[in-house]
Amino acid sequence: SAGMAILFAAAAVVVAATAHGAEPSGLQQGLSYGRLDKSAVQLYAACVVARCRSTDASNKWESSRLKASLRPRGGATSDSSAAPSDEAAVPKELAVTKAGSKADATIAREWATEGKLAERKTMDFVDSLPHLRYVRTHGIKQFVSIYKNMRNATSNELLWGDEIEYMLVQLDREKRTAKLSLRGHEVLDDLQAKELRLGRSDGFGEAASWHPEYGVWMLEGTPRVPYGGYTADLRRVEANMRLRRKRLLGALKTDEVALTIPAFPLLGVGCFSEPALDPAANECTNSDSIPDGCILPNPRFFALTKNIRTRRGSNVDIRVPLRQDMYTPAEDLERGIRMDAMAYGMGCCCLQVTFQARDIDESRHLYDHLAVLSPILLALTAATPILRGQLADTDVRWATISASVDDRTPLERGETDAREHPTLSAEQLKALAGAGATPLPKSRYDSISRYLANCGACHKKFNDVAAPMDDFGYKELKKAGIDDSLARHIAHLFVRDPLVIHEGRVELDDENETDHFENLQSTNWQTVRWKPPPKGKACGPRIGWRVEFRSMEVQFTDFENAAFTVFVVLVSRVILAFDLNLYIPLSKVDENMRRAHARNAAAEGKFFFRKHMAPPRQPGAGDADGFEEMTISEILDGKADYFPGLVPLIFAYLESIDCDGETLELMKVYFDFIRKRASGELYTPAQWMRSLVNKHPEYEHDSKVSEAVAHDVLQAIAEVADGRRFEPRLHGEHRIAPLRKDDAWYVPLKDMRIRSEQREALLESYAKRRAL
Ligand code: ADP
Ligand code: MG
Ligand code: MG
Ligand code: MG
Repeated sequence: SAGMAILFAAAAVVVAATAHGAEPSGLQQGLSYGRLDKSAVQLYAACVVARCRSTDASNKWESSRLKASLRPRGGATSDSSAAPSDEAAVPKELAVTKAGSKADATIAREWATEGKLAERKTMDFVDSLPHLRYVRTHGIKQFVSIYKNMRNATSNELLWGDEIEYMLVQLDREKRTAKLSLRGHEVLDDLQAKELRLGRSDGFGEAASWHPEYGVWMLEGTPRVPYGGYTADLRRVEANMRLRRKRLLGALKTDEVALTIPAFPLLGVGCFSEPALDPAANECTNSDSIPDGCILPNPRFFALTKNIRTRRGSNVDIRVPLRQDMYTPAEDLERGIRMDAMAYGMGCCCLQVTFQARDIDESRHLYDHLAVLSPILLALTAATPILRGQLADTDVRWATISASVDDRTPLERGETDAREHPTLSAEQLKALAGAGATPLPKSRYDSISRYLANCGACHKKFNDVAAPMDDFGYKELKKAGIDDSLARHIAHLFVRDPLVIHEGRVELDDENETDHFENLQSTNWQTVRWKPPPKGKACGPRIGWRVEFRSMEVQFTDFENAAFTVFVVLVSRVILAFDLNLYIPLSKVDENMRRAHARNAAAEGKFFFRKHMAPPRQPGAGDADGFEEMTISEILDGKADYFPGLVPLIFAYLESIDCDGETLELMKVYFDFIRKRASGELYTPAQWMRSLVNKHPEYEHDSKVSEAVAHDVLQAIAEVADGRRFEPRLHGEHRIAPLRKDDAWYVPLKDMRIRSEQREALLESYAKRRAL
């Protein structure tokens, strides 16, 4: 559209100005922490002005003048990594340093193995009943202790990192079969051992770290140490992700692939795994379609599965609407896609990004703003059109996972006809949080229900959804002097019960242990997670206040995964630098979550968004807190003469920090790709998979995806992911460079002796070569 063209032009002007204006310099540019001082408002305003003027080709973005007026906090140079002036007030031992800089073998080993969940004995839910209250109350005490110890902890470096979850699939090209390969734990062991041997920990190059996941076909990879706060770090993400993929592919058998898609399309359809599992071996899952062997053999995961069922009183009940096609049987449509086991949700793969904030306040501020963005990024990354061998009428995984771990009792879920709880007696129910009878509007895997920052009066206006809390916990937190917003946030997490308690780990030293807090914290799976610093191990890396962004669907390629990771990182920088205000009522954020599920929501959906991210300049511009429906294109590129759009703001930010040209070029590629997805010019992975099924000659237009069709789709995804197949529908002009496998690991320059006969042969062959 004309509007799009204008916006592209506006951004292009910014980019061009920057690319030419930036002096090559030996120093790396820092991604700023915090605000760009007063001038942030000016810069924001200038973006709005540029938008208005961009209709007139003679008006250029006045970049150099603007830049001259921009001085990051605390100094006259553009080195925005300069220490903020208030830092001196922070005791040294509380200052957090970069984990990577101390990369010695001990830390590396710790990082590589911390994902191995402690294999302690877990309790069945009924056995844990007498301890539920203890864990809940002491979890609160442990949080209070963390808060008191760490509230002043500051971090002088931006650290951040992504998490990608992978699924192992066995593809047989002859028979056209696709099975989940149940070797996640084997591959994990292999990769962890190799990381220790060949992964290097001297800070050179990229390195990875591997972690177990719920499904035995899954594993998670992260950068070994977090990325840092320089523009050059933005370029590391894709390189690191590619390295991970290479290492993973290198650990597989020849008929296996590692895919980055949220849901395996055939999960729960007939015999879907290799090796095949006995459907009767389902003591833990109690599901006809998901045998226990699907769960990673770790006691915690088994206990989670079982205990959710016990607390709930039945199998979980996941229902996804079926996509209607020409020959879809009426009864199938009526029934929809039904799934009854945790693996349907927790077996999904996602893409997450964690940031370290400068301090507790910044982490709370980011938490709120990223929560507003979570549905937008969910829609943009949509990649889940097929579930249990059927085409869904939705495009994303979120509601499926949400229902897959829904441990609420019938009363908590709002089924008010007072039946007996199917598995727990009246006496037993008394031990549950809220006696198992407090209405809880959401699953413990859901969107957030409260903003967290101390934004004064804004809470009344924006916290407009029910957020039940644990009253005892709330009082304790207030008694400890914790402010109301934070107390309510924590007390809201503690309205749930601990799902898994470990034997011998009930009575703990609340000043030094945090198990009980972590127990509740880590089983409240929300769109964003606020992560307090762990109480530092004496020798481990110090970690600060962090926020995790959790809504995104994992993408087929590292190009896409990197683009979205970097986008979220830069949006977070822009939010801080420009002091943006994205608050809208949480009821609208929830509505956006619902809308993000719709087919093609990325290009066709409308989402509530705030009209004025900065105070409107003219008085009488209407409600300063107003919001309206926007397309994602508008959110990214701008709307009318009042909303500048997030992408132009990012470019303005990059310019203002003197981003180097190479990074800027890459950012332009990433953001062009993302905006084309929003405009509908490119397909989301969901749309693309759907189209592949729809035009497949064997698809019978009955909403069912056969194994042969699924095989072809998955094979295509594998080829797209490693650069063998060019897909302009997904990536436009951008070509994914084919993955090589020979450089996955660093090759040691060995000093071993070469045996004499081997030496003779080698020398001889080199002598011959010289003769040529
Ligand atoms: P989770 O609890 O979500 O599984 P992980 O340990 O897998 O968390 O790490 C999440 C991400 O956070 C990783 O990419 C990691 O590199 C990154 N990370 C680790 N330490 C920090 C830190 N101090 N600040 C920001 N990010 C960090
Ligand atoms: Mg992780
Ligand atoms: Mg994970
Ligand atoms: Mg995570």
